[in-house]
Amino acid sequence: MTALLEVEDLTVRFYTEEGVVTAVDGLSYRIEAGETFGVVGESGAGKSVAALSVLGLIDDPGRIERGEVRFKGEDLRSMTDAELRSVRGDEIAMVFQDARAALNPVYTVGEQIAETIEHHMGYDPAAARDRAVRLLDRVGIPEAGTRYSDYPHEFSGGMCQRATVAMALSCEPDLIVADEPTTALDVTVEARVLDLLADLADEFDVAVQLITHDLGVIAGTCDRAMVMYAGEAVERAPIEELYYDPKHPYTAGLMSAIPHVGDDRDRLQTIPGTMPDLIDVPSGCRFHPRCPFAEEACTRTDPALVDPENGEAATLETERAAACLEYTEGLTGGLDYSVEVDGETNERAEDDDGGEDDDGREDEGEEGGSDE
Ligand code: SF4
Repeated sequence: MTALLEVEDLTVRFYTEEGVVTAVDGLSYRIEAGETFGVVGESGAGKSVAALSVLGLIDDPGRIERGEVRFKGEDLRSMTDAELRSVRGDEIAMVFQDARAALNPVYTVGEQIAETIEHHMGYDPAAARDRAVRLLDRVGIPEAGTRYSDYPHEFSGGMCQRATVAMALSCEPDLIVADEPTTALDVTVEARVLDLLADLADEFDVAVQLITHDLGVIAGTCDRAMVMYAGEAVERAPIEELYYDPKHPYTAGLMSAIPHVGDDRDRLQTIPGTMPDLIDVPSGCRFHPRCPFAEEACTRTDPALVDPENGEAATLETERAAACLEYTEGLTGGLDYSVEVDGETNERAEDDDGGEDDDGREDEGEEGGSDE
C-alpha cells in the first residue's frame, strides 16, 4: 500500500559564496497515514531543510538537486506552484518553532484561524468563527470564545503554540510537519504541548512529522523515528527499538546525553566534537571524527543505510536501518556500548551471534503543568 508521504533519495544543496553546502544528501523515509514520525539530530543535521524541501519551500540559493517526494502517491516536485500551495494549505500543515512569530501581530488569534478556515474550507465568516472557537477550546485555550479576540501578544508562549496547532488542524490536514514546536517553551509547557499534539493526532487521525534536536522529546510521542547526521539518515527504527537497542553509535551518544529522573551522574555524557562543516564533510563515514569505534576503514568508506540484521540495503519499507560499517562486516573491532533507559543499563544487542537483547518496555513519563 502507498504510504502517505514517501521521500526518496532527496538531495538539497545551497550554493553560497563560501561554497556548496549539501544540507540533505540522499535522504529516504516514509510516513504512514496517522502515524507520528520523529526526525532527530543536532542543529545542522538537515532536519528542517528536509521538511521545507518536502513542502517546496526551498528558496535561492538552495536547490533540490534530485530525489522524489510523493504525497498520497502524487509527485509533489512536478506540481505547479498553485497546486503545491493548495496541498500545503489543505492537506499538509506546518507548526513552526517560534509560534509568536508565526502569528500575525496585527490580527487577533481567532481571526487568523477563522481566515484560514474560510480560505481553505469555504466556510462563511460566522461558521468559520464557530469552528475557530471550537478548535481554540479543543487545544486548551480557556474561555475560547473571549480569547478569540485576543492579539498574539496577549497569549503566553504555550498558548501561542496551542493556537498554531489549532490553526494547523483547522483545515483537517492529513499531515502536520512540526519543526521544533516546543524548543522555545519551558519544560512543563513543552510536555503539555507534546501531549496535546499526540492526543490530537490520534483524535483527528492526522500524521505528524515531528522534528527535534532532543531524542527525549520523541520518547512518548512518536511511533517511529529517523536519526540524521550531517545531512544523512544514520538510523531509522520503531521508537522503542531505537531507545532500547540503538544500532548506530551516534544514536547511542544522543541517548547518553538525555538526563533521567534519579540520574546520579555528576555530568551528562556528551558526544565529543561538533557537527562537520557541510561544505567540506569528512571522508568515509561522516561521523568518524567523533565516533569512539572509528577504524581506518571508516575514514575511507561511506556506510550505506542497511538492515542491521542482514546487511542488505535499506528500502523505504525497511523498518530497522542503520548506516555503520559494523553491519556490512567492515569493522574489525565491532561496537561496544550500553545505554541507560529508565534506570536500567541495556547492553548493545548483538545481531548475528546470539547476544542478548534487553527488553523492558515502558514509555518515558512527562509531567503536566500550566502554560499560563
Ligand atoms: S562506520 Fe565507523 S565511524 Fe561510522 S559509525 Fe560505524 S564505527 Fe563509527
